[in-house]
Amino acid sequence: MTESVEVVVIGGGAMGSSTARSLALRGREVLLLERFEPGHRNGASHGASRNFNVSYADETYVGLLVEALPAWRELERETGRPLLDLVGIANHGANPGFDAVHASLTRAGIPVEFLDPAEAGRRWPGIRFDTRVLYTPQAGRLNADAAVAALQESAASHGATVLHGARVVGLEVGEGVLVRYETASGSHEVAARTAVVTAGAWTERILGAAVRHPRLVVTQEQPAHFAVRDESAAWPGFNHSRGAGDDYWYSDVYGMLTPGEGVKAGWHGVGPVVDPDARDFLPEPVQLAALQRYAREWLPGVDADALVPISCTYTTTPDHNFVLDRTGPIVVGAGFSGHGFKFTPAIGRVLADLVDGSGPAPALFSLAR
Ligand SMILES: Cc1cc2nc3c(=O)[nH]c(=O)nc-3n(C[C@H](O)[C@H](O)[C@H](O)COP(=O)(O)OP(=O)(O)OC[C@H]3O[C@@H](n4cnc5c(N)ncnc54)[C@H](O)[C@@H]3O)c2cc1C
Repeated sequence: MTESVEVVVIGGGAMGSSTARSLALRGREVLLLERFEPGHRNGASHGASRNFNVSYADETYVGLLVEALPAWRELERETGRPLLDLVGIANHGANPGFDAVHASLTRAGIPVEFLDPAEAGRRWPGIRFDTRVLYTPQAGRLNADAAVAALQESAASHGATVLHGARVVGLEVGEGVLVRYETASGSHEVAARTAVVTAGAWTERILGAAVRHPRLVVTQEQPAHFAVRDESAAWPGFNHSRGAGDDYWYSDVYGMLTPGEGVKAGWHGVGPVVDPDARDFLPEPVQLAALQRYAREWLPGVDADALVPISCTYTTTPDHNFVLDRTGPIVVGAGFSGHGFKFTPAIGRVLADLVDGSGPAPALFSLAR
């Protein structure tokens, strides 16, 4: 028997959960289908830390950040879960774009300042600085696991049906959509006016030929947690831009302290290209050794030999901008390219607007670009 619902959201990671919540808050009848169990570690939204980094020059992203900060606070109030800790973020290295970021944040009224390396080193002795530092105090760390749970809890409390262990195996597009999914109890079909596809690394597989979109490359990323030497030391989040002489670096480095787990550091978007259903979840050893060398040279506050690797997926577009758009009865939220988490509540709002037809997404995120 075919069930029917107003909106089906496919994929219960950060973006699908946020969209289901935004739609439920508007009184929409929503079914969220997630193939794995709550708290799974197979996608991109697990773990206890993500940078809420505000250092963007592009006004579209800055606008989403201005929206996201109070929205995270509102979700905390609603669910009673602490999600965002404004520990500040220190950006350093040879980055010619810092002045444009400083100007863009200043225009938006977001606090930002330059520190000299000595002052930054005094504040955060666990990090070595050799350039000026672009410091943003109204930035910090999000708890990803707690955030996804809070979004789903809130969505359900506003009437959404959140189904785990429900794997979508087919999507038929007509005037509306017909979605086939499988659970432990068997096969199911649901008809809906609109489907939101927020399936992360599996987006291309779900969309198939139904929707043309920018190329999506799935990589297995492998940051690591390093043991801290001094538990009492203060740590901001950090981004370190690669310089001319950094020949062993794979990319810029990002990181933050994850309470109870150590300091996370990682290369950005350079992991092996993978099939999300055929991953080994193992770190590529040469990249990992280079990350350890980075920690030895630039993070005096950690033990570079005491580390725990992490495995996670990026789904990256050619221009690293998101895909937030609609075609017919399909709304797509994908290609978050390793930097989407901070924007999650605002992205849920943008995708819900696309469902409701109450506003196009910025052209920067179009399917057709
Ligand atoms: C190592 C790492 C570090 C990061 N650091 C940061 C950071 O510091 N700051 C930041 O802002 N962002 C960061 N990001 C990026 C951020 O985490 C992602 O952009 C975000 O989590 C993407 O969410 P998503 O919902 O699109 O994907 P996912 O969380 O992967 O969600 C997709 C969901 O779809 C489900 N699904 C797939 N196929 C099906 C199906 N057939 N049926 C039903 N469900 C299905 C999957 O199980 C999954 O739960 C980082 C990402 C990684 C990997």
